[in-house]
Amino acid sequence: MTFAILGGGLAGWSAAATLRDRGYDGRIVIIANEREPPYDRPPLSKDYLRGERTRAETLLRPAPWYAEQEIELETGVTATHLDASNHRVVLDGGRELAYERVLVATGGRPRRLDVPGSDLAGIMYLRSIEDAERIREALLPGLRVCIVGGGFIGLEVAAAARRRGAEVTIIEALSAPLERILGHAIGDVCGELHRDQGVNIRTGCAVAGFAGTQRVSGVLAADGSLIGCDAAIVGVGIEPAVEALAGSGVKVGDGVVVDALMRTTVEGVYAAGDVARHAHPRHGSVRVEHWQNALDQGATAARNMLDAAEPYAPVHWFWSDQYDSNLQYAGFAPRWDSVVLRGDPADRSFLAFYLTDGALTAAFGMNRGRDVRRAARLIESGQRIDPRALSDEGLDLRELASRAIGLAQQKPSL
Ligand SMILES: Cc1cc2nc3c(=O)[nH]c(=O)nc-3n(C[C@H](O)[C@H](O)[C@H](O)COP(=O)(O)OP(=O)(O)OC[C@H]3O[C@@H](n4cnc5c(N)ncnc54)[C@H](O)[C@@H]3O)c2cc1C
Repeated sequence: MTFAILGGGLAGWSAAATLRDRGYDGRIVIIANEREPPYDRPPLSKDYLRGERTRAETLLRPAPWYAEQEIELETGVTATHLDASNHRVVLDGGRELAYERVLVATGGRPRRLDVPGSDLAGIMYLRSIEDAERIREALLPGLRVCIVGGGFIGLEVAAAARRRGAEVTIIEALSAPLERILGHAIGDVCGELHRDQGVNIRTGCAVAGFAGTQRVSGVLAADGSLIGCDAAIVGVGIEPAVEALAGSGVKVGDGVVVDALMRTTVEGVYAAGDVARHAHPRHGSVRVEHWQNALDQGATAARNMLDAAEPYAPVHWFWSDQYDSNLQYAGFAPRWDSVVLRGDPADRSFLAFYLTDGALTAAFGMNRGRDVRRAARLIESGQRIDPRALSDEGLDLRELASRAIGLAQQKPSL
């Protein structure tokens, strides 16, 4: 019996490790198109980019671990086609791998900016360790770098670039960094972290192109202005890596569509991690790009490949580190009715609660990680919460959560 795993990232690794933990003793093959054994990506925009972590320290497990676990890790190999009707994966070079069950954990790749000049040298993207190495080498003191996109990756790269002495401009199309996820006011508080460190932030600024002959020398804004730079780093999101599924019958639509058990529309084919769009009981069909999700979804998919029938319905959670601040977010709130604050954003230690129909759907914290994790239980309860209780520093979030969970349990089931 062979279980194939396409993609040697966190989700793929987590699935392989879980299969062995669960006592599965058949064949496990990981098809991984990168040269490196599975490694962690969060350091790539943080300590690895600052030069404070080595390559080896990014590995999820040292290389010998795979042989010890009898996991066949095929690095530098791309799965080019999933032939699901014949239970085979076609690999580059034409080789075929027969499987009983397969997990698609191919993650994503950076969305490219398709504007004039986008092929100039000096325009970089960040996803892999090679990308991080290239950017790290470029980030010399005094380098003028434009970062296109004020999302989490852009902001973390900005922080690392400042620590390496570069002059940084962030170019963001919306009215504040992180606006889509946090709203204008809280996004702007995050922007202040960067302005305090000497970062220039241009908001409401769409990129029309890049200037330069061979190398990039500036970013052309849609308003006609030119922002001079020696390098540009683009962080405008990822596209799920689904090309191998073309013609396989597996349903794809901004990611691989899976049910709550991580099963795709084709029998024996599962998906997990950044590439998967899963059916969440509270949020509907969602695809998130979080470390914890990749770890847990990979593990859940593995258990379900072993017929555990375990649904995946977490409160999503992620973190970001920028300068000395730790940011955390729990929940999922593409829209909200109101935002309630606990603490003062000016102190750089506060929480923002996002409410929809009176219930808490997400919580963001700056240097309040423990409280964000406590708020996750409140979110899970699905109960309506008094906004005054949320804003009152004197009320312990654990107590609020216990009460809310108690109320949820009292409700008669339908
Ligand atoms: C720079 C950076 C910083 C981040 N920081 C944070 C953070 O602070 N907090 C947080 O919560 N999350 C963070 N994330 C997100 C987190 O790392 C991802 O959610 C996680 O890595 C997703 O894992 P994955 O296994 O689903 O996908 P990936 O890590 O993308 O792994 C997929 C692998 O499959 C390979 N592959 C693709 N197609 C094929 C194919 N056809 N054949 C073979 N192999 C293939 C890819 O090359 C890749 O190696 C960060 C991500 C990046 C890039």
